[in-house]
Amino acid sequence: MIYLDNAATTKPHQDVLDTFITVNESLYFNPNSPHKAGLQAEQLLQKTKAQIKELFHLKNSFDIVFTSGATESNNIAIKGIAYKKKDFANVIITSVLEHPSVLEVVRSLENEGFNIEYVNVTKEGQLDLEHLNSLMSDDVALVTCMHVNNIMGQVQPLEEVAQIVHQYPKAHLHVDAVQAIGKVPLNFEAADTLSLSGHKFHGLKGQGVLFVRNLHQLEPIIHGGGQEYGVRSGTVNLPVDISIVKALKVAVNETNELYNKLSAFNLEIIQFLKGYHGVQVNSPLGASPHILNIGLPGVKGEVLVNAFSKNDIMLSTTSACSSKKASLNEVLLAMKIPKKQIEGSIRISMGANTTSDDIQTFKEKFKNVYEEVRELLR
Ligand code: PMP
Repeated sequence: MIYLDNAATTKPHQDVLDTFITVNESLYFNPNSPHKAGLQAEQLLQKTKAQIKELFHLKNSFDIVFTSGATESNNIAIKGIAYKKKDFANVIITSVLEHPSVLEVVRSLENEGFNIEYVNVTKEGQLDLEHLNSLMSDDVALVTCMHVNNIMGQVQPLEEVAQIVHQYPKAHLHVDAVQAIGKVPLNFEAADTLSLSGHKFHGLKGQGVLFVRNLHQLEPIIHGGGQEYGVRSGTVNLPVDISIVKALKVAVNETNELYNKLSAFNLEIIQFLKGYHGVQVNSPLGASPHILNIGLPGVKGEVLVNAFSKNDIMLSTTSACSSKKASLNEVLLAMKIPKKQIEGSIRISMGANTTSDDIQTFKEKFKNVYEEVRELLR
């Protein structure tokens, strides 16, 4: 089986699994317990957070809140900031490019009375910075912007976004960096809060981090025992939280190497596809190389995914979260991709385990699939 759906999830590193088991076996204590064993657990938790800060050279600029994944991190950050600022700023700025764990949160805040503004998107899938600038005012509480898009792979100009947002002292910038970690260098400078998800970089499902520059800017949305600085109550999941460091270290230390490897694979696939009439590349130039979105207008994306699946190639239409929806994907629509091409689009997503042999097999199987559907191509 060739797995080319790494943007949906990745295989956990053995080191991560081993650490998870070891901590469960030997340090299963509650870090909040007052006894010696609890204290030991608490010390390991703090040591782990210090290691993560060191890995990203963060010194004292951020606190780390462990969560159950990026959906929770995004909810805690977006709702937390919105509620904290609601009396003096009630505009939230986002774009249709965002993942549902951002868009649906913002939509629910709209129902609660917040004003939501959507920044226009260019044909390359970038935020239109002039439009963003025109939407900014002293009423803006929050701008939320992803680092790398999960469907097309385009990288947002976070530095420029931050320059615009931070001209307004009340405005907070939240960054969803789920698809960026390990693929491109993370931009912490720009962010006031930043979300990560372990299972996208060979960690575990249910393993998330929220980096927070100023904890006082977050109104807790999960209430309880006050763990994680009161921002995310609930008994700390020490084995899960500790083992993410193993995945983070590999992701950060091998970002450049992986970038070069996947850029070469990405280019190889694009060159190969040039030989197939009717096949379009949807991902814009400069996108993160781990995601390559292509379109075969006239064929349905689901038909292609099934055909590849029968050939033991696992890939997806859009994202795992939206691939079951019948409507046309908003990200591709925003990038003005023609309707037929959107309907016939698939996402090839690579990761640290992708090999040159995988790419050769993909190319061979692509020929079979192409032969099957070529009658339908327009
Ligand atoms: N943001 C982005 C960009 C994602 O790709 C995903 C995962 N599909 C999430 C957020 C949600 O992450 P999790 O699965 O950890 O809730």
